[in-house]
This record gives sequence, structure tokens and C-alpha cells, in this order.
Amino acid sequence: MYEMHKQPENLTDIGSASEIDTGETIADVDADLLNAESLDSYSDEDISCDPADIPEGEFGLPGLPPSGTVTERPMPPRVPIYGVRIHSDNSVEHIEVPVSVAAREAQRLTAERQKILETYTPNRQGMDIERVDQFLREVGVVATDATIEVFDEQRAAVMGTLGRRDAGQHGTYIQSIDVAFTFRDHRLEELNGVPHSDMVRLHELVHSGGAFTTVFLDTGERRTVRDIYGGYVTRLYDGSMINRFIDEGVPQYLAGKYIAEKLDMPGGLARLPEASVRLANRSVGTLVVPSQYMIRMGKEKVGIIPAGFAGAAIGRLIDRDPALLPAFVHGMHDSEAHKEVIGRLNAISPGLYGDLRNNFNDYSKLGFARGAAYVCGILGIE
Ligand SMILES: [Zn+2]
Repeated sequence: MYEMHKQPENLTDIGSASEIDTGETIADVDADLLNAESLDSYSDEDISCDPADIPEGEFGLPGLPPSGTVTERPMPPRVPIYGVRIHSDNSVEHIEVPVSVAAREAQRLTAERQKILETYTPNRQGMDIERVDQFLREVGVVATDATIEVFDEQRAAVMGTLGRRDAGQHGTYIQSIDVAFTFRDHRLEELNGVPHSDMVRLHELVHSGGAFTTVFLDTGERRTVRDIYGGYVTRLYDGSMINRFIDEGVPQYLAGKYIAEKLDMPGGLARLPEASVRLANRSVGTLVVPSQYMIRMGKEKVGIIPAGFAGAAIGRLIDRDPALLPAFVHGMHDSEAHKEVIGRLNAISPGLYGDLRNNFNDYSKLGFARGAAYVCGILGIE
């Protein structure tokens, strides 16, 4: 989803601070995945899983199926197919999903999907739907064919139809109904061109290419349906998420690749004369970011979204090992490719995958900039 985030520290360009001011985050691309759907009032604060408990080389929760076991895009609705009972000692037992729960979820999600697709007519005027879809096919993303593009004044209404209060500023992918939304921003389209909305749509469509696992959880006292995996992300029992850096970096890396290569805009949508910009921050240090991740936020103002930092880092890793590109794309839905990502990252530097998975899950500009700085440090890039 594409959300507003206020950052405590500014990232400004040292060389030309008057031109490059990234102190204000315009947007935050994110998938609205893994949002808990409670069947009853459920608090799982007392159930936790430390990432340290997950064995090296694994990418799922202990006792649960890994995120990548689905090799074909499952069709919606994504009702839970795994049932899990968690005992007081945190051990996990597989159980049958109650038929009533599965039926209720299927009915609810089918109705929700149908309603949203019938209610809103996409406004794709000026957007290059075919070029984005073709690009995604070329890189191997198997995306949803259900997308809704509306101008941002309709965002609240769309979310209201779905019974959700917020879904991010510019885009969201809602995994439970398998629909990708783009909320077109008049001002940002004016500043960056309509490809800004193509970029948002592309990012959300990459999220839709992930495999998702919804689990029926039974703690003995409480029962709930939860989305445990989505793409690279695992939601721990305590509700926190890990592996967000890679999960956001891959979609934005592909968005940047589309802009630089397909649109032939190495200066990015911001149309910068330089191929890269140097961003500085007191706690992160300096980071050189390719211009394809930069966006014009005002006539004299250029900015970056948090996912841009993660995307730039993914790009650095692919530069080092080009075989990572297909592995990153397919690792969102295929367990073998996911393992290949783990192996290739750890071959670059032992423990790199686990570090990225566990340590950079603060979805903010500063949080992801720290992850990018960490990757540059590992790679010996200034
Ligand atoms: Zn995202």
C-alpha cells in the first residue's frame, strides 16, 4: 500500500539540498497483505515466535507450511487450507479447518470481490496497461488480472465498500480477494506524468504474483483466521512481520527497471539529469541511489518512497549476482526459487538473507535506508 509516513529525520542531498529534498515522504508503496481477519475477538499477544527460532535456511514458521509451497497462482477466494492448534508450550499441531469456517470465509470473500469489481469502473485513461503487463510477463511475474484504477478522490469510497478504513495512499493489493488497486494522484501525475500511476500499478501487481497462505489458528480458547505468509513476508504469531525489505524491494526494483529500461528514462520519472543521486542522513550516512527510484514531488522538489531504498538495494544485489533476478521474482511463489534466493544471498555474504529478513522490517524511509546502507556495506559499495 502506498501510505503517508512521517519520518523523524530528513534525508537530504548534500550536493544540492535546494533541489533534492527528500525530507517529506510522499508515499509508501505496500501490499495490504496479511491483514488479520478475525472471526471473533482475538488477541494473540501471548503467542509469539522469535525469528531466531526459525532455523537458518528456513523461511516459514516452525510447524507451518512454508510460504512458497504454492507453485501456481491460487484462485480467490483464499480461504484457509491449513489449520493449526497452538498449545501452551507454543508447540504446533496441524488440524482440519472446520467446514463452517471454510464455507463462511469463501462466501464472505467471494461476495466482497464481486461487489468491488461490480461497483467500480476502472479509469485507465492515459495509462499504459499493455506495456506494464507485457513487462511483467517478460520478467516472469504471474499477476492478477483483477485491477481497479481510480482517481484518489474515490479511494475512501472504494475502501468503504470493502469495509476498510485505510488502504494506503496510492495503491494496494488485497490478497484475500486478489484485486490490485491503483489510486491515481492528480498532482503526482501532473508532476511525473501518468507513468507514476503505471509504476504504482506495476508495484502492486508484483505483490499479486506472490503465494499466500491463510491459516486457521486455534489456541484452544480463541479461534481466528490469519494470513501468515504473503510473497516474502511472514507474519509472526505476535502480529509483527519479517522479510518486508525484500518483499517491498523486489516490486520497486522491477518498477525502477521498467522506468529506466522500458520507458528509457534513466533519470527516472523526476527526469533528473544525473543517473543517480547522493542522499545523506545523519544516522544512515550517504547513499547513492539510481535516479529511477526518484519521484518529483514538486516543481523543485524530488523525493523517494521507502520501497525505493529497498528496490535500489535489491538492484545492487542483482548487479553482483544476476541470477538473483529470476530467483527473486519466482521466490515469491515458488519454494525452490525461494531457497535459491537464500543460498545466493548467503553466498554473497554468510547470513545475509537472515540479516535482511530479521533486521530491516521498519517500513519507513529511514528503516529501509538503513537496510540499503547495510547492503552497500556488505557489497563494499561507497
Ligand atoms: Zn509494496
